[in-house]
Amino acid sequence: MEFKTLFQILKKHLADGYDVPHFFRDLMAMLTEVTEEEWGTSKDPSQAGRDKSLRSYAKRGLPKKLAQTIVYRLTPENVVDSINSHGETQRRLLAEDLEGYDPDINADNVAEKVAAWLVEIVQVSAGLVPQDELTKQKQQQLDAQLKSKYGDYLLAEEENHCAFPGCGRELVLTKDGRISYAYEVSLIDKVAPAVPDNLLAMCPQCHATYLLDSNKKLCKELQETKKVLATHRQNVHMLDDLPLEKGIVSVITRIAKLNEKDLADASLDPKEIKQKLDPTKDTAIYYAVNNYVGVYFVRIREIMMNLDKRSVIDYEEIQDQMHALYRRLKKAKKTRLEIFNEITNKVHRVSLQDEIYCQIVVAYFVQSCEVFDAITE
Ligand SMILES: [Zn+2]
Repeated sequence: MEFKTLFQILKKHLADGYDVPHFFRDLMAMLTEVTEEEWGTSKDPSQAGRDKSLRSYAKRGLPKKLAQTIVYRLTPENVVDSINSHGETQRRLLAEDLEGYDPDINADNVAEKVAAWLVEIVQVSAGLVPQDELTKQKQQQLDAQLKSKYGDYLLAEEENHCAFPGCGRELVLTKDGRISYAYEVSLIDKVAPAVPDNLLAMCPQCHATYLLDSNKKLCKELQETKKVLATHRQNVHMLDDLPLEKGIVSVITRIAKLNEKDLADASLDPKEIKQKLDPTKDTAIYYAVNNYVGVYFVRIREIMMNLDKRSVIDYEEIQDQMHALYRRLKKAKKTRLEIFNEITNKVHRVSLQDEIYCQIVVAYFVQSCEVFDAITE
């Protein structure tokens, strides 16, 4: 199906009398989350200039650059919703005009079919070659196999979000108490074997487009993403058998309640942090820890001592546990940033409290020497 044909038919039935540029913009707003500032390719930035470009796209098809800008950020589900919001009669008339392109089209499925055509048009315009029917069927079999074999593992690794750069859509949806899965498993390097290290779960949209894309740079980028995810998972596993007192929750809920007034007269100048973190090498985490310690240390120590006295926590035990977490990661030669992040994550997993408070707790233990040794090199 050519863009100009589909555009004309859609405009006839869905444009509510608006002109070509107006309907073109409406259609793009349905089809992609990318804004006109990004997809617009007109050299003349005036309204008239841009309108003229849109008229020309409607007649000649989508320019490659425009298609490439939106091809990984399509929202066909919005096209479906939008068409289905029209009445049955209107959808039937639209379907009738499209019967020549698909004899099975009707008022009930016209929305899905139009969305699929639009996706394919954008893919082709972006220079991607769609698969023929036979390849498509084979692909669907392979997808189903990969999904049943590795799906659960990959969903856990990606914490249920599409790992494609710039996407991040949820892969497991809940609605009215029901759970539905919206993902496929993609090979990162398409000529390499289907082993977990070469697989990513993606939303159906990213999966379908990446399948047709042989861009080497993109493949490299996905390999990097995979490495980060896999390393994080290994780190989580590494700390799994080390306990952390659940009393830490009481500490964090008290930290969360501290306000500016509570903290104002309790500041500390944390000179020693420089002995554990090198501001020239671990800049971001140095400043974060330095700040948290400066503001929170004194009050957290009071909270801990207080809870220890009342036997809500065993302070010494927590100190030992923090130190054990640190030693395990250090032994595995993790960087200081990784160590800080992974201990923070562990505190978060045990407490389910906001990540920022977990960071503050870990910063406290940096100052009190359970996390990080003095730099010797
Ligand atoms: Zn995605």
